[in-house]
Parts: sequence; C-alpha cells; structure tokens
Amino acid sequence: MIQPVRGFRGADPPSGLQGRAVGAYLGLAVGDALGATVEFMLPREIKAQYGVHNRIRGGGWLNLKPGQVTDDTGMALALGEAILAAGGVEVHTIARAFDAWLRNKPVDVGHTVRRGIVHFRRSGQPWVPENPQDAGNGACMRTLPIALATLGQSEAAVAAACQSQARVTHHHPLSDAGTLCVVRMVQAALEGASALDLLHGPVKALLAAHSEFRFRSRHRDNPSAYIVETLQAVFQALFDTDSFAECLENVVNRGGDADTTGAIAGMIAGALYGVEAIPREWLHELNSEIQRRCRQQALALLELAVQRYTAYSGTTVGSLNHSSSRWSSLRDRCWC
Ligand code: MN
Ligand code: MN
Repeated sequence: MIQPVRGFRGADPPSGLQGRAVGAYLGLAVGDALGATVEFMLPREIKAQYGVHNRIRGGGWLNLKPGQVTDDTGMALALGEAILAAGGVEVHTIARAFDAWLRNKPVDVGHTVRRGIVHFRRSGQPWVPENPQDAGNGACMRTLPIALATLGQSEAAVAAACQSQARVTHHHPLSDAGTLCVVRMVQAALEGASALDLLHGPVKALLAAHSEFRFRSRHRDNPSAYIVETLQAVFQALFDTDSFAECLENVVNRGGDADTTGAIAGMIAGALYGVEAIPREWLHELNSEIQRRCRQQALALLELAVQRYTAYSGTTVGSLNHSSSRWSSLRDRCWC
C-alpha cells in the first residue's frame, strides 16, 4: 500500500508512482554526479584511467567533491522550486529562478544558458529568439520538474509547459522536440510504461518528426552537447540494457557530455525502474543536501499535479496511487 504524499516522512516510498518520481529525481542527480567525473573524456581515456567508471568519486575537469552535482541538477532544482512557488509553470518566475541560480555562482554554466539568462536580465523577456545555435542539450537536462508538475494534463498543456521553460534559454526545433520527448518518456514511465512502450511511443514519434535522432546506425561514443548526439547516446544506453545501473554505466563510459547524458538517462531510467533500483553505493555517495532536496521536490511536484487534477475531480490525495483507476484514466487520456 502506498503512503499518501502528505504523510510521507523519512525513508523512500517503496514502489509505485511516488517511488518512480523519487527515482527520476535521484536518477538525475546520481547520473550527473557519476558522469561529471568523465565529462569531455574519450572512451579510451576513461578505460585507461578507470577501467570501467562506475563509482561516484568526484574529480573531473570541474574538480568536484565526490557526490557533488553540476548545472544539470542545479537548474532542475531551481526550475522545480519556481514551479512550486508559483503553483504551476509560470515563465517569469522560472526565468527569475534561473537568474538567481546564476547569481549564486554555480560550478558550471553552459554558454547558451548564460546568454539566455543575461538576455532576460537586460530585456525582461523570459524567452530568446529562435537561433540555429540553440540545439544544445541545456533545456533538456533540466526538464524533469515539468514532467512531474504536468502529469495528467493534456498533451497540448504538457508541450506548452515544456516549451516555455526551454525557451528561457534555448529556442530551436530540435531542442524543443528532444526535450518534449524526454518529458513524455518520463511521464509514461511514471505511470507504469515499459522500456518498449517508451520506444514505440514517444521515441518513435520523435524519430518520425525529426529523423536526425535515429540512433541505430552506429554506436554513439563521445556524444557532444548537441541534443541529437546526447539523445542518441541516451537511447542506445537505455534500450540496450535492462537495469538502472547498467544503463548509467553504459552511458557515462561513452564520455563526451557525460554528466548530461548521465542526468537525462538517469531521470528516464529512474522513472522506469524506480528508486529501489538505484545502487545504494551511489545514493550513499551523493551529496546529502542534494538528496534531501530531490526527494522533497519530487513528492511536492507530484502532489501539485494531483491537486490540480483533484481540484476538478473531487477525490483526495491519499486515495490516489499509480494503480488506481483514476491514474489509469489519466494515462489513457494523456498518452495511449
Ligand atoms: Mn553539467
Ligand atoms: Mn554537461
């Protein structure tokens, strides 16, 4: 029996929707912390230095402490806090949260992200004009809170929320499409979809609209921050493995933008396999304050999604769980 969100204290919820939501958040942070060690390395350099890199040990070009995370997790937490503060996806609140995040001197900032935030500071506009250079993975890496907050909403509402957070800094059709695909994958996984369902649902739809993302022609090593290469590496790692640990190990040992492939693979695999599937050693190493914020934010955003749903259905928070007919009907309406 799943505990109601409001009553949740301490240990992770055992399974179901909440366990998958917490899994997605901790998966994001664990993937970021694991991948950051080998960011910008080539697979052969990783092999020479670590054999197989599968421990959270810090270091890397950012010289991180073990368990420290980077901008991927930092921006996701800033986005989630903005959504909770506004009680929904409100783009000015989001842009101000990104601005505050940048003022706090994060360990790492992508140049497209910095440019977008500076544009907001100067113009007051929380969106950037379309730019052919904006097909990086910076909007996608932080998108997880959107998936949780808009769970159960219409496809159009999910897409609009997804786009509004993305375009604070990134405005490009491939960034928009890749980011929305990841949100849809996370939402489907949260509601109990299998890896095969993700492949035949959101991923197939992405490939049909943008053939650039096709990922079966060759092994994607050393993926860059270009959203296409990033997601090709993530898809290969996700669909060629069948556990959280194998998926993450597979993706970060490809090197390149490894903290971000780790973060994106981590949020999807965490939603798919649940929090129990994340290796204990990795959770043990992950910075404890980051863990606390991830757990808390996952459940708060889920509660926000449920409240928005129950506001018109008249049911109570504690009566909802992943197997209830209400969540099933949510799934039917938004996905299948
Ligand atoms: Mn990063
Ligand atoms: Mn990165």
